[in-house]
Amino acid sequence: MVESLARDLVCIDCGAVSPLGYRLECDKCRGLLELRYDLDRLRAKGPALFAGPGLWRYAAVLPVGDAAHRVTLGEGGTPLLECPRLARQLGVRRLLLKYDGSNPTGTVKDRTSATAVGAALQFGYTATSVVSSGNAGSSIAAYSARAGLRSLIFAYERASAPKLLHMSATASDLIIYKGVYDDLITLWDRLVEERLFFDCGASRNPYKHEGKKTLAYEIAEQSGWAPPDVVVAPVAVGETFIATARGFRELRDAGLIARLPRMVAAQATRANAIARAFRDGTAITPIKIGYTVAEGLAAGSPGRKGDWVLRLLREHDGLAADAEDQEILDAQRLVARAEGIWAGPTGVATVAVLKRLLEGRQLDPAQTICAIISETGLKTEAALPSREGTAFDLDSLRRLVVERLSGRGRPG
Ligand SMILES: *Cc1c(COP(=O)(O)O)cnc(C)c1O
Ligand SMILES: [Zn+2]
Repeated sequence: MVESLARDLVCIDCGAVSPLGYRLECDKCRGLLELRYDLDRLRAKGPALFAGPGLWRYAAVLPVGDAAHRVTLGEGGTPLLECPRLARQLGVRRLLLKYDGSNPTGTVKDRTSATAVGAALQFGYTATSVVSSGNAGSSIAAYSARAGLRSLIFAYERASAPKLLHMSATASDLIIYKGVYDDLITLWDRLVEERLFFDCGASRNPYKHEGKKTLAYEIAEQSGWAPPDVVVAPVAVGETFIATARGFRELRDAGLIARLPRMVAAQATRANAIARAFRDGTAITPIKIGYTVAEGLAAGSPGRKGDWVLRLLREHDGLAADAEDQEILDAQRLVARAEGIWAGPTGVATVAVLKRLLEGRQLDPAQTICAIISETGLKTEAALPSREGTAFDLDSLRRLVVERLSGRGRPG
């Protein structure tokens, strides 16, 4: 069994150290806590510490000590795809897409669900809960069922039909809330303190947050420990961004990679509190949001994690930008046609933002750029193409085939 190198929890604000345990904030200053590992051991043993497939390949740098608690549905180990045609269309020399839609419930959330539900088992909880626009809810419900835990899932009233179907199938309790994520999360976060359930939310729990760090480990290992120059990550509350950035820092500190990729935070314009603060050089002002097609990015008040993202962007020469809903939908078609990757709008917001940054010459097209595609398109609801059918005989069928295939080159 691979042992966990997790050592303690450190406050990101005052640096106070606490022992490992189910803690949500610093005792001294209420700052957020971050897990810290024995990186000297990682440096000494290197990739030999990693074994097996998927997310738990990196169990040494995850905080779930007992192998019996490492709940899995086969998450992680998602493909890092070379995308030459899309690269040409965007005008960048080399483009890689990290396609997380191939996770068990179709989104990046399965990475955090694995460590959240694993930690719930580790700390002896029998119930989990989360407030979700759809993806986290369906993922936490699935992983809780897999671990034999009760799940209390609060889902957004405008969540897509496939997400609702998935949640109602897997959750032990599904509750629909009125309004957007921001409206319920503050209340729910207060309830977390009463310890009625294990916190599977994005606001504070350092154990949940941790699973998404494996994105960095995978991208680094899949590129032969020479990661891309730039990594574009989606940002709602900031878990994906923060965890991925720290994964790369751990790898650098342990000497497994030589330098850090530049991190780009991608948001939807209708929920762009962090990108806006970055551009204006100010602190984050929470914004009142309505609907965005990037449902998974619909958080207007990212809280203390948002501040953390902003701090990382400023300390490490990052970049933040956003894209309008129409640009995101255009990117969805582009990625599907150019590379055969069918991702949901939330999943391709990174590509829409990347396109904008390249057009605005804010990124160097000679660099190797990686964009995280965080969800499948199969959980999206959208207008259907026409279902009007044609009845064929052999002649009309041949005519159609010949006509369609004549005179057109290869797509893209
Ligand atoms: C939740 C989610 C994100 C990003 O959320 P963070 O809280 O910033 O990590 C990105 N993509 C998808 C598909 C999501 O469901
Ligand atoms: Zn503190």
